[in-house]
Amino acid sequence: MFYYNCNGYNFITITVIASRQVVILNPEYDKIVERLRDADVRLSHHRLAILRYLCENTVHPTADQIYSSLHESEPTLSKTTVYNNLNTFINAGILRLITIENNETRYDIDVEDHGHFRCDVCGKVYDFPFRIGDEDTEALEGYLIKDRNVYFTGICPGCRKKDPEK
Ligand SMILES: [Zn+2]
Ligand SMILES: [Zn+2]
Repeated sequence: MFYYNCNGYNFITITVIASRQVVILNPEYDKIVERLRDADVRLSHHRLAILRYLCENTVHPTADQIYSSLHESEPTLSKTTVYNNLNTFINAGILRLITIENNETRYDIDVEDHGHFRCDVCGKVYDFPFRIGDEDTEALEGYLIKDRNVYFTGICPGCRKKDPEK
């Protein structure tokens, strides 16, 4: 069962059916800043603004969404700067690219194993805890696995509430 809470922050709480375990995924901005500092990544004003946005909007935004959301508060920010910074984050190992469908590239600040749930109505992509790697992949012997993804699709609780017919 999925419960989505939206009280100022975007995060997901998953209750396992036996209600044994509740996990909150919430990337920690301060810790990530420390990691970048340790890796000698220059922390410019724009870079930090993009990072904060990614930490506070964990629904896997596209570069365009990041740009248009930040444009008002950061009028000197260009699309190129957004792309350059996202690439810097990827190279530093704190961000990863995900492509779910239609070749739409999204950015994920959570680089640990987890699954994704894409809402068909609002298009948001939510995280849920999932350990990738325990699957039986014997049938793939001889294949070189480069990436593993777990995607669910459906309708999120927020959209179901708006239209209970769904
Ligand atoms: Zn939705
Ligand atoms: Zn994710």
